[in-house]
Amino acid sequence: MGENKKKIVIVGGGIAGLSAGIYGRLAGYEVDIYEKNPVAGGECMGWNRRGCHIDNCIHWLTGTKPGTGLRRVWETVGALEESTEFADCDIFYTSIAGGTQVTLWKDLEKTQAELLKISPEDEIEIKKFVQHVRYALKCEMPVEKPMDAMGIRDYIRMGASMADMPKVMKEYGSMDLKDLAGGFKHPALKALFTDYLPEDYVASSFLVSYATIVSGNGEIPKGGSLAMANRMVKRFRNLGGKLYCSTPVSRILIEKGKAVGIERADKKTVLADYVISAVDTMEMFGTLIGKKYMDGKWKSCYADSEKYPLFSAVQMAFDVEAGAYEGKGTIFFPCIPFEAGGKKVERISVKSYEYEPGFAPAGKMVLQVNVPQFDKEYFYWTGLEGKEYKRAKEEVVKAVEERLLAQFPGLKGHMEFLDCWTPVTYKRYCNAYHGAYMGFITKKGVKSFRVKGTVKGVKNLYIASQWIMAPGGLPVAVAAGKFALWRIARKDKRNI
Ligand SMILES: Cc1cc2nc3c(=O)[nH]c(=O)nc-3n(C[C@H](O)[C@H](O)[C@H](O)COP(=O)(O)OP(=O)(O)OC[C@H]3O[C@@H](n4cnc5c(N)ncnc54)[C@H](O)[C@@H]3O)c2cc1C
Repeated sequence: MGENKKKIVIVGGGIAGLSAGIYGRLAGYEVDIYEKNPVAGGECMGWNRRGCHIDNCIHWLTGTKPGTGLRRVWETVGALEESTEFADCDIFYTSIAGGTQVTLWKDLEKTQAELLKISPEDEIEIKKFVQHVRYALKCEMPVEKPMDAMGIRDYIRMGASMADMPKVMKEYGSMDLKDLAGGFKHPALKALFTDYLPEDYVASSFLVSYATIVSGNGEIPKGGSLAMANRMVKRFRNLGGKLYCSTPVSRILIEKGKAVGIERADKKTVLADYVISAVDTMEMFGTLIGKKYMDGKWKSCYADSEKYPLFSAVQMAFDVEAGAYEGKGTIFFPCIPFEAGGKKVERISVKSYEYEPGFAPAGKMVLQVNVPQFDKEYFYWTGLEGKEYKRAKEEVVKAVEERLLAQFPGLKGHMEFLDCWTPVTYKRYCNAYHGAYMGFITKKGVKSFRVKGTVKGVKNLYIASQWIMAPGGLPVAVAAGKFALWRIARKDKRNI
């Protein structure tokens, strides 16, 4: 570790903030992280209810394949340790439609065989899809340095390792998931391709996600999201970083166009050479520095939710007798329509945690249901007062329970409600803009959102957040933390 004279203050102890903090210590800076919640981790979170653990993030962690750049980053920040085990999952997810069940397996050949068996008339589209997933297998997110700092040699190296990606972009880059589904004739296949991500997501992103699972680069670390965040906290503290939890920050102090520190909600100020904002970016612009610093690119994205939509969900968890549930992995199924957040819902998904026996008492298992919600529904939920909000949640829980039992009758008498949370929960807990837990969705025909992570007119302020690059998620968060430090270290001629 190098000299220790300069100080960095980081606002927000989610994955991006912890990553920035760890790289900051590795580069020899004194680092303080201020986190408003009692525990760090942000949206990479889990909590306990009645003897069960509710894991609320990692469905898959991109960057688990040994030898990849992102895996090295996860190892550097301590998220993945030598002893970290991965869940033994052979399924991406399953969809049920019109009485037919279809699965995207980790084994691509198995998927192809299953899809062809279900719908021989879709042979051409199925084989094309599978071939293009194969093309995407080597797709990796560049994490050595920020893309705007990449030189010709970096691009050549990246191009060589992802030689087949242009074929994926050519075939699927200008269609969305609705278009992709529309190319199939069988209703179960149509449902399969619009179930996992919002249907206006660009189709190439979905292929890359599935390829990540197939290539073994998207595993689930055992112990779940909170355990992973805790490993990063341990790494940060072992490196000598200081983490202050239950310490909200109200302002980033800016003097003469330069960030000079922060003001905590308890009015104490902390001065620093650099400030990294690792909170939701609307919290940064709206509260910590003021919207006058928001440049045109941010403004136009935030202002146009048609072009740059966001998503969230109403979710709930149940504990069930393990033997009473006949599903596995994540299953999407049709149901009698009901309303959640004012939106008509006709399909829901249920995820079972059979791979984490420690999440429930012996013989039991946690099930989690996800009901998709968007901007409009966020306003529905925020418009409800205390009692109304509680009642609206109870109604959704009741509707979901009935539909779960209709789909899985074996659960009758063997299922107990644990908890329910909504887009408002993400706002309250993480200051997440409109309750969104990923960044802006990339739609077809719309340029994918990406910014540098600096703020025009403010020196020494850097942004480390999933929001700096669509579609967000854990890999973007951890890379954003590293990139913020890369910029600071380059300025000070240090290495990270
Ligand atoms: C249900 C769900 C499923 C997900 N599934 C996946 C998945 O399978 N794979 C994947 O890659 N990603 C997934 N994600 C997304 C992933 O969790 C996020 O992309 C990531 O955790 C964002 O990290 P971040 O550090 O950028 O932001 P955050 O986690 O939001 O961290 C920001 C931190 O700043 C704190 N903060 C905010 N305001 C202040 C303030 N004023 N003062 C002090 N602290 C403040 C917050 O409390 C928070 O801890 C999922 C998220 C959810 C909710």
